[in-house]
Amino acid sequence: MSATQIAAVRFQPLNLPLLEPFAIATGTQYNVENVVVQIELKDGTTGLGEAAPFPAVSGETQESTLLVLQELEKHLLQKDVKNWRTLAKELDQLAPQAPAARCSVEMAILDALCKHYKMPLYVFFGGVKNYLKTDLTITAGDEAHAAASAKSIVERGFSVIKVKTEGTDVDYDLRRLQAIHNAAPSATLIVDGNCGYNLERVQAFVHRAAEAKIPIILLEQPLPRDSWEELAVLSTTCPFPIAADESARSAADVARLAQDNSANVVNIKLMKCGVLEALQMAALAQVHGLGLMIGGMVESILAMTFSAHFAAGIGGFEFIDLDTPLFIAEHSFSGGFQQNGENLTLSSDVAGHGVWLESPLK
Ligand SMILES: [Mg+2]
Repeated sequence: MSATQIAAVRFQPLNLPLLEPFAIATGTQYNVENVVVQIELKDGTTGLGEAAPFPAVSGETQESTLLVLQELEKHLLQKDVKNWRTLAKELDQLAPQAPAARCSVEMAILDALCKHYKMPLYVFFGGVKNYLKTDLTITAGDEAHAAASAKSIVERGFSVIKVKTEGTDVDYDLRRLQAIHNAAPSATLIVDGNCGYNLERVQAFVHRAAEAKIPIILLEQPLPRDSWEELAVLSTTCPFPIAADESARSAADVARLAQDNSANVVNIKLMKCGVLEALQMAALAQVHGLGLMIGGMVESILAMTFSAHFAAGIGGFEFIDLDTPLFIAEHSFSGGFQQNGENLTLSSDVAGHGVWLESPLK
């Protein structure tokens, strides 16, 4: 028997209210319907993970995630978290279509492992640094809402604003971006199309935005996931760097983007693929000279702090989009990254990711 064997797996729905609906081109989320997972080792150490299933991305829901976790629980009991990489591969084979569910288990395993060895999670990932600067998002909404949000975001100490566009009416998207730029002239902008454009509309959009001198530093996923050829065409004339998000769900996707020369940056989100695959995506992107972005679904401080450890520990992440905890009205966690405006700091004295449930799962 080993102290690091899994003695218990517990999970329950994590329903949290949002301050405002989170609207993107493919749909609007009104509440957080995630799942929290707790793993307990034989020595009593616990680890926590979160699944943020997003139906539009992987088809997962809160309900399907709870069912998958029920299946995975049987497999996990008695397994040793020291073998986390073997375990992560087995989870992938058992639940290939449930990346958010697998990710939550990987998070809990790595939190418990690092707590057992008294190591901060960012040190486990490489220890490059323990701080990041995040952007803050303006979700889809009218020009007046966008301008007011932009002004308040800059007043709160952010220098990068992420803007979700709708992609159906180029004139409207440009008017909205101009309103944001006028309200916050010092901020640079990441534009996230969330698959909303076609090639003709996005080409008109980027060229007119460049003419208007809108300070776009990154254009994220303008085209649908499978528009590989169109993305490669866009990249030959696009005046802004392009990030792949929905088109980058696996290391195989990163290889294709690199081969097609169709993206400059890969947006890594742990929920799309799990922690092990995300490590492989980051390594492959770096090998091919692609830039790194870290993002997430609509996640609480738990999963976002895990992603902050991942990006800070590995290093080299140029674009940081870990803002969804600021959209959550209340939650039952303590700890997590310290946030001061755009600056996120991870404690170097706390083992694991450093997020706890105020009342642990029984
Ligand atoms: Mg995105």
